[in-house]
Amino acid sequence: MRKVDLAIIGGGPAGISTALHLVRQEPSWVSRLVVIEKGTHPRPKLCAGGITQFGMRQIRRLGLTPKIPFVPVGRADFLYRGHAVQLRGKPIFIVTRREEFDAWLAQEAKGLGIELLEGNPVQSLARRAEGILIDTAHTRFLAKAVVGADGARGIVRPWIGARERPARVARLLEVVMPETRFDFDDGRRVATFDFDMVRDDLQGYYWNFPSLIGGQPYLNSGVYDSQVNSGQRKARLRELLSKGLKHHAYLSETTRIEGHPIRWFSPSNQVAAERILLAGDASGAEPLFGEGISIALAYGDVVASTVRRAFQKQDFSFNDYRRRLLTSPVGRYLLLRWATAQAFYRLTSRDRVMRFLWRTGELVTKAMR
Ligand SMILES: Cc1cc2nc3c(=O)[nH]c(=O)nc-3n(C[C@H](O)[C@H](O)[C@H](O)COP(=O)(O)OP(=O)(O)OC[C@H]3O[C@@H](n4cnc5c(N)ncnc54)[C@H](O)[C@@H]3O)c2cc1C
Repeated sequence: MRKVDLAIIGGGPAGISTALHLVRQEPSWVSRLVVIEKGTHPRPKLCAGGITQFGMRQIRRLGLTPKIPFVPVGRADFLYRGHAVQLRGKPIFIVTRREEFDAWLAQEAKGLGIELLEGNPVQSLARRAEGILIDTAHTRFLAKAVVGADGARGIVRPWIGARERPARVARLLEVVMPETRFDFDDGRRVATFDFDMVRDDLQGYYWNFPSLIGGQPYLNSGVYDSQVNSGQRKARLRELLSKGLKHHAYLSETTRIEGHPIRWFSPSNQVAAERILLAGDASGAEPLFGEGISIALAYGDVVASTVRRAFQKQDFSFNDYRRRLLTSPVGRYLLLRWATAQAFYRLTSRDRVMRFLWRTGELVTKAMR
């Protein structure tokens, strides 16, 4: 059995960012923690790979610059029934391939000497007086503290008994297909967020993102259903994805549709237990757009400072984590998006309100140009 101060379960953006922040804040942590990852980077990850300016700020705060191909999106069109609210930026967000992004981040961590054990799924957890016993496929660990950064379908969150009713889970379907014609506007690549399908019970949108795979242009499309309003009828996601693809003149017959949930943040979510902290999707992504990469990266900072304080005080109750999270920049970002999603996805069934919002948005964004 190996004894460690901290075991981070999950080597995605939340787990790696936590390790990187800890080592940046206090270099001695490099020999006190281990990151345990089920897959081996580059591991498959279903995700559209969009990283906003908020996420790019998190990457810069880690002292990093992405050394991977990405598509800078210069214009985002938010559509509703013939109205288009256009946002422009340099860029508004970038589109990465998640396999490449996560493998690059993992490589940066390894480069600092952080121990990342890949191909090592955590199979069970148990409480002991001195810490948490973690059994993986290959090793047994005893950790004084554990970070559950193992995603929306991870093992840590259910193990601490954090189950909300109704479940705060968004559904997503995605297709990726070769593309010959990126949409351009003055040389800027365009992404589309189409909210037309709120009239078909979708509590979200259809998206088209320009993407690069192996240097070739691809289109990443999908539907996002936040399910924020649990009383509403469930949208038929597959039908809506086909409808969106046809409407935007793409063929769906030859493409493989894949789906995965996102767990979203609510201020009342359970985020910790004795000796355990949750980060990233295991704790909650933002429900308005389903943005999770930037959020996962930003969790790392809060988790790292909470862990350091717990070790200084030798108090592993983590009673202060919720307050620290909610008052941090990522906590405020999540709260704002959560409150907006709660209001917005209850209004989307009212066509007149939606048209008013979009007409106002059109006027404001045109005036700003
Ligand atoms: C279709 C789709 C499209 C999306 N598009 C976007 C987008 O464009 N922009 C955006 O910001 N967000 C997007 N998201 C959300 C985003 O993918 C997630 O929010 C993000 O991956 C969360 O990061 P994480 O580190 O918390 O979890 P993950 O990235 O899921 O990482 C968790 C890690 O834990 C590992 N793990 C799981 N179980 C175990 C175990 N038992 N033992 C050891 N390791 C384990 C997994 O292998 C994984 O590497 C999308 C999601 C979906 C489903």
